[in-house]
Amino acid sequence: MHSDLIGKIEKARHYANEPERIQLEEVRATFHGSNGDHVLSLQESQWTCNCSFFKTWGTCAHVMAMQKILDPMLTIEARQPDMAVEWNGSDTVTI
Ligand SMILES: [Zn+2]
Repeated sequence: MHSDLIGKIEKARHYANEPERIQLEEVRATFHGSNGDHVLSLQESQWTCNCSFFKTWGTCAHVMAMQKILDPMLTIEARQPDMAVEWNGSDTVTI
């Protein structure tokens, strides 16, 4: 194998352990929930889900699960509020 490509594979392995290097701008996903499939999306740091709970509360288990999984790759606005505070590392932040 070409040595340049070997170098890139090594670099990719390194990058794969540093997800904070990646910022997701948009996400669209089908979430296989306990009661059926739901469509989630993230656009301009705003999550949406087509489940009925989200319509009432503006968040849901599907969105919260995605926030937990993708946390290092999300903007502060797109993270769960408590995770954003944790990331911020400031004790002056109040919600
Ligand atoms: Zn949902």
